[in-house]
Amino acid sequence: MTEVASLPARGSAGDFNAIIKDFKGADLRVGIICPAEFLAGKSHLAMQILYFLAHQFPSIACERIFLPPVSERRQGIFPRSRETGRPLREFDLLAVSLSFELEYPWFLWMLQQSGIPVFQQQRLEREGQYPFILLGGLAISANPTPLRDVAEAIFVGEADIAFHDILETCLVTPRTEWGGNTGFGKIPGILLPEQEGPVQRVWVQDLDQVPYPVAQIIPRELSKSERKRSASPLPDSFLLEVNRGCPNWCRFCLAGHFTRPFRNRSLSTLQKILEEGAPATPTKHVTLIGSAVADFPNLIDLLRFINTLGLEFSLPSVRLDQVDENLLEILRINGTRTLTIAPEAASEKTRRGAGKPWTNEEIIEVTRQISQAGIRKLKFYFLLGLPDSLESEGAEIPKLVKQIASVTHPNTRLEVSVNPFVPKAQTPLAQCVQYYVGEQFNLLHRTWRDLQRELRKIPRVSPEGYDPRWARIQALLSLAGKDVTPLLAAWAEEGVTLGGWSSVLRDHGWDASEHFEQLAATNDPEWRIVTTGVSAEILPAERTLMAAGKISSPCQQGCKRCGLCP
Ligand code: SF4
Repeated sequence: MTEVASLPARGSAGDFNAIIKDFKGADLRVGIICPAEFLAGKSHLAMQILYFLAHQFPSIACERIFLPPVSERRQGIFPRSRETGRPLREFDLLAVSLSFELEYPWFLWMLQQSGIPVFQQQRLEREGQYPFILLGGLAISANPTPLRDVAEAIFVGEADIAFHDILETCLVTPRTEWGGNTGFGKIPGILLPEQEGPVQRVWVQDLDQVPYPVAQIIPRELSKSERKRSASPLPDSFLLEVNRGCPNWCRFCLAGHFTRPFRNRSLSTLQKILEEGAPATPTKHVTLIGSAVADFPNLIDLLRFINTLGLEFSLPSVRLDQVDENLLEILRINGTRTLTIAPEAASEKTRRGAGKPWTNEEIIEVTRQISQAGIRKLKFYFLLGLPDSLESEGAEIPKLVKQIASVTHPNTRLEVSVNPFVPKAQTPLAQCVQYYVGEQFNLLHRTWRDLQRELRKIPRVSPEGYDPRWARIQALLSLAGKDVTPLLAAWAEEGVTLGGWSSVLRDHGWDASEHFEQLAATNDPEWRIVTTGVSAEILPAERTLMAAGKISSPCQQGCKRCGLCP
């Protein structure tokens, strides 16, 4: 293990609004971990919220820890906190935010590099010598089983209220009792190692009632090369979370299914957050966050308000049916240069099956209007490998992109991102793994490569996409159970490369295809340990509707369909 003492602390001198407290004198030392490099993780809203909540306690010292950049990893430099350069072992509690499955191995790598045993049982033998590990975040909430043997506790759901109770429990309960029924066990949404389950997802009823960070952390300065390498296309922004959940029923979408019901902050709350946030956070840019930002009922009023404060905004992808003259006008005033649309599929039948109702004519027409409004960069997202669609999509996507390109201004650039469909636990398509099995996977990989080549031939189009080999690992981690944990630990030691994954599978005598076949066949997947509160009939009903090419009606007042709303 490399000695940290010889290393300069990265130091929060680089970050506005970072807080440094007396670490040794604190009653509790909390490390918030994002297993992504700082350039990607700096815009994670969960980090901002957890950090803000922890610092509400005067006696808690809380610091952020990111995955070291690749140059440091190569030198064997181990992870340490951004504020004061502390190694992981100096914290009492490590709260780890896991939004994406491919962050799992990197988190295990961070433990290994810090001299912390990966498995909870190994740490138990020397209790008190290592930090208590608490996991949370969207991906691990939907299926906690791949890391159940790693964590002392996993939190399932939205932590805004629970994190306060968790920290208070740590302050008033002896360390040896944190993992028991008098400790974390009494907090709703917590899953402990020996617990047989199920654990019920926890969610915030009224977003207006939960505290929100207004003095957000912004890096003081990134070097030119850091900016170039930055995984986030966004400038350093104030993050404004508008809503959670989604009223629409896109059948592939984890966020839509797992974060139901659809909840908006009120316009007045958002205005208040902005009024307090603008002077407290040194940026002129606001990024709107939410799984259904375009469905926010007062979107235009909110965008106008942002502009009246002298700020500019960026939107995530927009739904086609929300694009109208008012939206285009405010985008023009804002100086928006880029807009993202997600048709998901090029064939209308596949698109309807996925849960999106638009025709190709509608997509082309809206694109024409957006381009006419002066937006010169358009991003399109497609999924490759939705059930029974591979060959047709391989042929149809380039055709649709050509038609789209033909109606745009000659100076418009089109970024077309084609990504393999990754089936997720807790969604209607969780068992649709057909393209990850045997020869079908080779076909998926070939079709994806051919598509990239075809798209490159279209003038003004830049193809992008996620390599199917990574998508296959992600799909496995999304759906698998505890038996993948030893593979993850071994993969972390190998450095989390594609070649390393193949060696790990070989060494463990694992056949990924066989495993996917078992996942497709089982009626009782391990991820069922989590219940979302949605009625058990919904997922099969959605699969049936998908096969019939039918769209489900969006959520609305008075609806009782899935059983979540009173
Ligand atoms: S009960 Fe109806 S409105 Fe509420 S989340 Fe379920 S489907 Fe949506």
